This record gives sequence, structure tokens and C-alpha cells, in this order.
Amino acid sequence: MQNTTRRGLLRSAALAAAALPAAGFSRQANAETSPQFEAIYDVIVVGSGVAGTIAAIAAAEKGARVLMLEKLNRLGGTSRFSGLNFACVGSPAQKTKGVKDTPEMLARDMQKVSGGFGSYELALVMAQNTARAEKFMTERGVRWDGRLLKLGGHSAERCLIPEGDGAGLLTALWAHMKTLENITVITSAKADEVILDDAGRAVGVEVRTNYRFDMSDSSEESNKTGRKTRFGAKRGVVFATGGFSRDKAFRSVEVPFLAGVSTTTSEGATAASLKTLVRAGACPVHLMLYRFAYALPTEDMVWGMMIDPATGKRFMSEGSSRNTLAEGSLKLRLANGDRKPFMIYDDKALSKFHNMNRIGRSLNGLNGIDGTMYKFDTLEALCEHYGADAKAVAESLKVYNEGIRSKKDAFEKPLERTGRAVEPLTETGPFYGIVVSPRLNYTPGGIRFDAKARALSMKDGSPIPGLYVCGEAGGGLHGAERMTACSMPACAVFGLIAGEEAAAMNPTNI
Ligand SMILES: Cc1cc2nc3c(=O)[nH]c(=O)nc-3n(C[C@H](O)[C@H](O)[C@H](O)COP(=O)(O)OP(=O)(O)OC[C@H]3O[C@@H](n4cnc5c(N)ncnc54)[C@H](O)[C@@H]3O)c2cc1C
Repeated sequence: MQNTTRRGLLRSAALAAAALPAAGFSRQANAETSPQFEAIYDVIVVGSGVAGTIAAIAAAEKGARVLMLEKLNRLGGTSRFSGLNFACVGSPAQKTKGVKDTPEMLARDMQKVSGGFGSYELALVMAQNTARAEKFMTERGVRWDGRLLKLGGHSAERCLIPEGDGAGLLTALWAHMKTLENITVITSAKADEVILDDAGRAVGVEVRTNYRFDMSDSSEESNKTGRKTRFGAKRGVVFATGGFSRDKAFRSVEVPFLAGVSTTTSEGATAASLKTLVRAGACPVHLMLYRFAYALPTEDMVWGMMIDPATGKRFMSEGSSRNTLAEGSLKLRLANGDRKPFMIYDDKALSKFHNMNRIGRSLNGLNGIDGTMYKFDTLEALCEHYGADAKAVAESLKVYNEGIRSKKDAFEKPLERTGRAVEPLTETGPFYGIVVSPRLNYTPGGIRFDAKARALSMKDGSPIPGLYVCGEAGGGLHGAERMTACSMPACAVFGLIAGEEAAAMNPTNI
């Protein structure tokens, strides 16, 4: 039975909170009520991934009474499954190592891969605030694993890796959040509509509590569960609702050939909140752009050789960008009877990977759909496993190795990455194989926002008063190819800005 009274709601929120990992957030004692709203806070944050968590903490630390809503029955969104590698300019690690880097360098790196779509201005604001975001997180318990990496596309060593990946980072922030009396968290609570006052200012949200997310409905349109209620926000409403990679119906309207592609994002990554924001007058942008990822880091594919099982031959550079690799391999599959290409590595190649955790997960069969890596003593055994002609693959390997030795690769792949050389592969074994299967992991499109994380209106591009958007819910910053380790800084920086700005708004009289 659902809780329909206010007291029932409070109890169910407390029970939900008690079940949260490293959580147990208190119900705020001093929320106000009114005939129009079940409870009134200063700031409402929708979404509990890294952007929402940081926004909630930032607003609460400015003195705001904060309500954080999460539609799933657990916190963390996609952020929880992510590595959350963090491109940061001016970190203590860079200072210790004497790395020369500037916000402009990072913003320019991002522009280079954006295909002319990304916003240099927003990228610069992001880059200028990364050191502040790093300090904010570190002071609130986040730990970094000590590495400073120059990942694909970055012109400097600047990427930090959180201890315990995304889950570790969030667990630290939630432990801090627990110490803040003025944050209330309700899980299984879906924000359906933004409430605007007569002047067009966002003053609250229509919500369904006791919402039961249904995995079989990736658009959430047929999900009618939950109890309808309204929460008020005197200062601001922050949407940190993530991307929409899971929404098959929505993405196949935008890009039909993406209908069947799998994704590694959270089950909550639907387009429902994007539609909510559009109904409130916000402007969507770049909805046809997608970003792919692979079971193993894209930038580490360069160390191996990629083969079409139908021919036993290479067909493109393994050092290509993630979207080029996705396009190349998906088009190949259209032509070869949907047979997935596979990578061949050897021990030396594996030792060059920047993320050994993911190799470990792959070798142990713990890296999701198409994420398992197998070890073979001979090339014949590997080819049998992937259904490829062993003679053709042996010939491809010989030609590949000659190309690497003579520095004339047939597909002009880069022969150096992160200061390390691509080397010829063993011809005697052991070998390692894994299929190449692009998975959607990010949607660069979303709601247009400005440097203060304000959602911009469809009508005239002006900020919608009281409405903020941050993290993957925002669009227009990255463009066609979001650079690796750059969603995390966007989430952290604009989460921080959104929380601070919302808390600083003049209170409205609701
Ligand atoms: C496997 C993987 C690895 C990645 N690795 C990296 C990396 O190393 N570095 C990097 O920069 N990026 C990485 N990314 C991308 C990055 O993790 C995400 O872009 C980022 O975590 C998104 O954070 P967010 O807070 O915006 O959204 P999310 O973490 O998705 O959180 C949004 C939350 O909002 C909730 N929500 C949505 N709508 C509503 C609603 N109406 N009401 C209530 N709740 C709602 C959702 O359920 C969800 O919990 C990776 C992505 C994947 C999938």
C-alpha cells in the first residue's frame, strides 16, 4: 500500500534513506508547508549522480534547505558505474610534478574533437573551475589514486582517477552529505513537471513518490506508478538528471540506426526529464549526437590489432577516435552479416593499458556485455574461438608487425600514445582476444545552459529564472565527440555552480 499522508511520506523517505549505501540522510525538520505544496525547501535538486550530489552539497553549505530527489530506489545514476576520470587543470598533482597546463589548453583540446559543435566559452568556464572543484571534493573526503594521466586527446598530464572509481567518489561525498542537517533525500521519487509561477520563475516540482521504475519501459511513458505531490523551492530548482542513452524510442527517432545498440549507462538514463524541461520552456540542443565506449578504454585499443572475422583482415586504424571506431565497426557489421570484429593483444600490449582494473574485470568475465577477454596459447585457438580463418589472420599479423617496425602502418595508426610506443605483437603467443562492440555511454545533447548553469529558454535564449541544469542533462558544451575524462569536470563544475547560484537566488514568496 502506498503512503498517502505527509507523515507516511516522511516515514517512507526515512526508510528509503536507511537502505541507502553509506547514506541515511535525515529528513529536514524545518521544511515549510502551504496549501499548494506538501513541503517547501530553498533548493530542490533532481538527480543523485555526481552533478546532483555536488549541487546539493554546495547549496546546503550556502545555508539552503535542500531536497534531493531520485527516481530510482538507489542513489548514484550513471556516475556510480563510471570511472569518473577527471580532467583537472591546476591540481596539486600537476603542481607537484611541474606540469605546464592552462584552462585555455584544456578548452582548446575539447574544441579540437567537438567537430565544430562544442562551446569554447562553456569549456573554458569548466576548465577554469576544475581546480576549485577538485579542492571542493578533496576537502569533502574524495581521494585520488595518485596517478596523473595524459589520456587520449589531452595535451597535458591532467587526468585524476578517484579511488574506487565513481562509486568510491560518491560514497565519500555521501558520507559528507550525511553530516549536513539541511539536506533531505527521497528515493523512488520522480519529478514529472517543473512548476512555474505567473512570472515564469521555477518555484517547485510536481513529483511522484513511491515511483517504481520499470526496466521494460525505457521511455517511462507507460509508467503510471507513484503518488502525485508537489514540492516547493523558494530559491531554485536544479535538474541534474543525466543523459538519455537508454531511451530506445527517443534515440531511434533521432538516429534510427542506434535503436539496437547497447549501453552501459544507468537504467534511469531515459529522455523523460529532458521532455519535462522542454515542457517548462527550456531549449534542447544537439540531441542527435552520441558518444560510444568500449569494454576496454578506447585509447588503449591502439596497442593491439583489430580483425574482421569474415575476412581475417584489418579494416581500419585501431588508434581512431571512439566515434570513428564505432562508425567503422558498425558499418562493417552491416556488410559482414553482423559479425563483431575482435582485438588481438599480447602480454606487452596489455601492460601498456592505463586502466588495469578494467583488464582484470574483462579477464574475469566481469565487464558486462561483450566485455570478456580470453587468453589463448595459439593464434589458431584464438581464430577458432572468433570464427576467423587462422591463415588469413596470421598473414594480417605478419603485415601488421612489419608496418609497426617500419613505421608505415597501412591504416596510418598513431605509433605512440601517452609517451609509449606501439610495438609489434608476438607471433607465437600467448594471445588475448576481445570483441569490439560499441556501447552508448554518453549523450552530449541536452538542455542549453549558460556559465551560471541557468537553463536557457526556447523562446528567446534567456535564462529561465530559478531553473538550473548541470551534468549530462546539459547540452551544447562538448559537441560531437566529448573528450575522455571531461564529463566528470563538467558535472562537478556546473553542479557546484548550480548549487551555489540556486542558493544565492532571492527567495520567492510561495
Ligand atoms: C561505464 C561508463 C564510464 C564512464 N567513465 C567516465 C570517465 O571516466 N570520465 C568522465 O568524465 N565520464 C565518464 N563517463 C560519463 C559520466 O560518468 C557521466 O556522464 C556522468 O556520471 C553523468 O553524471 P550526472 O550526475 O549528470 O548523471 P547521472 O549520474 O546519470 O545521475 C542522474 C540521476 O538522475 C536521476 N533522474 C533522472 N530523471 C529524474 C527525475 N525526473 N526525477 C528524479 N530523478 C531523476 C537518474 O535516475 C540518475 O540517478 C562514463 C560513463 C559510463 C557509462
